[in-house]
Amino acid sequence: MHTLRQRLILSHMLPSLLLIPIMGIVLIYVIETRVVLANLSSELTGQAVLIAELAEDYPGVWSDAETAQAFVARIDPRVSARLMLLDRDGRLLASSDPADAPLVGSRLAVPEIAHVLSGRAQVRTTYSRHLHEEVVDVFIPVWAFDERQVVGIVRLNHRLATVHERFLRVRQTVALVSLGGLLLSALVGWTLALHLERPLERITRAIQLLASGQSLDLIPEQGPREIRSLAHAFNVLVTRLRTLEETRHRLLANLVHELGRPLGALHSAIQALLGGADEDPRLRRELLAGMEGEVEHLRRLLDDLSHVHDQLAGALELARRPVPLGKWLPQALAPWRASAQEKGLQWVATIPADLPALQADPDRLAQALGNLLSNAIMYTPSGGRVAVDAGVADGAVWIRVSDTGPGIPPDEQARIFTPFYRGRQARRFPQGMGLGLTIAHDLVVAHGGRLEVESTPGQGSRFTIWLPLE
Ligand code: ADP
Repeated sequence: MHTLRQRLILSHMLPSLLLIPIMGIVLIYVIETRVVLANLSSELTGQAVLIAELAEDYPGVWSDAETAQAFVARIDPRVSARLMLLDRDGRLLASSDPADAPLVGSRLAVPEIAHVLSGRAQVRTTYSRHLHEEVVDVFIPVWAFDERQVVGIVRLNHRLATVHERFLRVRQTVALVSLGGLLLSALVGWTLALHLERPLERITRAIQLLASGQSLDLIPEQGPREIRSLAHAFNVLVTRLRTLEETRHRLLANLVHELGRPLGALHSAIQALLGGADEDPRLRRELLAGMEGEVEHLRRLLDDLSHVHDQLAGALELARRPVPLGKWLPQALAPWRASAQEKGLQWVATIPADLPALQADPDRLAQALGNLLSNAIMYTPSGGRVAVDAGVADGAVWIRVSDTGPGIPPDEQARIFTPFYRGRQARRFPQGMGLGLTIAHDLVVAHGGRLEVESTPGQGSRFTIWLPLE
């Protein structure tokens, strides 16, 4: 019983294997003993009483064997059992069975006769050695005309074999029904097991393929509810694994790219210095400044990566304090204004001076805003426009960074906040790990707010930070 199939088949067969035969045997026993035998005894007793009453009118029957035999011959066709007449000494006078002829005149060795002669009727079920089978025996005393004494006995004797024979057929039917039930239940168990086995095997195979790294395919969610939810759980796992796998790929690709470029630049600068460039003070300064820029870039990269690490470890903590946005925002925007103008972009900042104060971590807020602004400046071609507005609505402060850059296609808008994701447009730009928006999003959410994007490809993008006032 190791497989589901064997267990299901057995559990379906057990009722037919046990219940039907047991019920059949019990029912047959009860019907045979309580109903048929009881009916037979009372029917025989009724017939015997009638014959006894009839015999009372023929006193000659009890003194002469021939008269007795004639009486029996007249009654016999109307009686279903063997009819015997016995005299007051228990001797056989006549019998409807010709085989009893040799016994006529002899005393029968039946212990009940003594009781009957004392006036009591007797009914018994016994084994007849003479007939070699079970019989129902009924003895009824026949009274003399004056009712003072018993003059003879009417005995009716019915073979039980006929009853048993009738029930044989019922027994056979029960056996056949059990067998049929057995086959049917085995079939039902087998079919059910197959219906369960197939999807389970499919899921097991899918898990094995997943474990061996051969496939990350989803499986159909079919079958009974439990199997469906198992398949669904598997698909959720596969989807999660796919995301992780994609993230890992993107991380590695971006890392190779992002580390390769500054390392190449540093290597070239070192080569130049070793090759004698350090003898020209101006060139040396330029090379060292370039190297510092690359090291700074690597440091920022490491900062971004450590942010992701902190986020995964759940270690992102905010140092909140009141931040008067009306005053703080223009200061935070100043360096970005410079770099936008440096790139030849039009810079428009509309910050109301009466913006309320907010409980926030100003450094983290500046980082989130900085990531949005650095993207806007990087992706917008020179001659374009970068604008920052802010205001209060629906119990929250909003800060919006808009640009007239290439915009973000709708299918990418939902993905740009996932770690290491870089849009198709962005891949043309040399720098970027695909972490800027992820970090900005995490920081805004840590402040209890949300970050929204609206963008029309070809026209520009708008990122809005919403921060609750409470
Ligand atoms: P990175 O800029 O390093 O690629 P980000 O997480 O900052 O990563 O941005 C993810 C992607 O979102 C970018 O690769 C780019 O495709 C898109 N994106 C972000 N900001 C802008 C923007 N202002 N204009 C156009 N595309 C943008």
